[in-house]
Amino acid sequence: MKCPFCGYPESKVIDSRSADGGQVIRRRRACKECGKRFTTFERFEQFPVAVIKRNGDKEPYRREKILIGLRKAFEKRPVTSQQIEEIASEIEAELRGEGKSEIPSSTIGMTVLRKLKELDEVAYLRFASVYKEFKDISEFQNELGQLLEKKDSKESKPAHADTERGE
Ligand SMILES: [Zn+2]
Repeated sequence: MKCPFCGYPESKVIDSRSADGGQVIRRRRACKECGKRFTTFERFEQFPVAVIKRNGDKEPYRREKILIGLRKAFEKRPVTSQQIEEIASEIEAELRGEGKSEIPSSTIGMTVLRKLKELDEVAYLRFASVYKEFKDISEFQNELGQLLEKKDSKESKPAHADTERGE
């Protein structure tokens, strides 16, 4: 959080208290550069305010959309609906960590994809195959390409040829 007086990026929290029945945290801060004091508020409830779609439109964030994608990806996989809820919560926590009020849908897609990659390769590839259709998101394509490349090289290489490439 930049100092509103001098723009310096670092400040020290000198007091922290909750308000609104614990849904808001109010922090009193002192700028590390000019020493002036200011207040910030942290909220959980309004996360995230808007999702920016590929065509630039905005829509309210809906957890249900992530759940639908996850359920499809995990179809017939040994995962309970409770676990899917937990995965969705982890994804939300990650998105919330970015601290933005608007999130591009591609960012959400990438976060889901990364999560799936950690958890279940089949679910990951199912989700990835849907996302591959979005050819206009070059950033996504690059990242997906890298992920798939890693997977390919891991599977097609015989074990004894698994040499270091100095990366
Ligand atoms: Zn300052």
